[in-house]
Amino acid sequence: MIKMPRGNRMKGPHKKKWRKNYKKRHLLMQKLARGRIEVLMDMAKKKHSEDPELANRYVNITRNIAMGTKVKIPPYLKRSICHNCKELLVPGRNMRFRINKKKNYGSFLSVTCLSCGHITRYIVKGRARREKEENNDEQSKTSYNSN
Ligand SMILES: [Zn+2]
Repeated sequence: MIKMPRGNRMKGPHKKKWRKNYKKRHLLMQKLARGRIEVLMDMAKKKHSEDPELANRYVNITRNIAMGTKVKIPPYLKRSICHNCKELLVPGRNMRFRINKKKNYGSFLSVTCLSCGHITRYIVKGRARREKEENNDEQSKTSYNSN
C-alpha cells in the first residue's frame, strides 16, 4: 500500500512517483470493481425471491462501487435496475416488459417497474433503418407505396 504524500510534499520528485503509482493502483481498483459488480448483481438476483430487501441492498452497494470507482455497470445488468427507485427488477415479480411499435421510431422495448410505476424504453430497432431511408430517399418512397 502506497501512502499519499500530503501538502507541499506533492511538489518535486514525489509528485511524479505518486502519479505513476496512482495510475497502476487505479487500474487495479477498476479491475476489482468490475468483478465485484458482477458477483453482487448475481447474488442480488438469486436472493430476490427469499429477501427482496437484501437484494436491493446488494444493488445499492453495486451502485456505490460503480460510482466510487467510475466503472460503468454493464448494460445487460443495468437494465435490471429501475431508473427511478433503483430497485432490482425481476420479470414476473415487480417488472413487466412489452415490445411496442411506433411509426417513426420502429420497435422498442418498454420496461415497467411495478413498485413505482416508472416506464423505461429501449430502442430495439429503428434508428439505423431511419438513417438508411434518409440516404436513399427515392428507394424508401417506392417501398412505402408498395407497402
Ligand atoms: Zn421503480
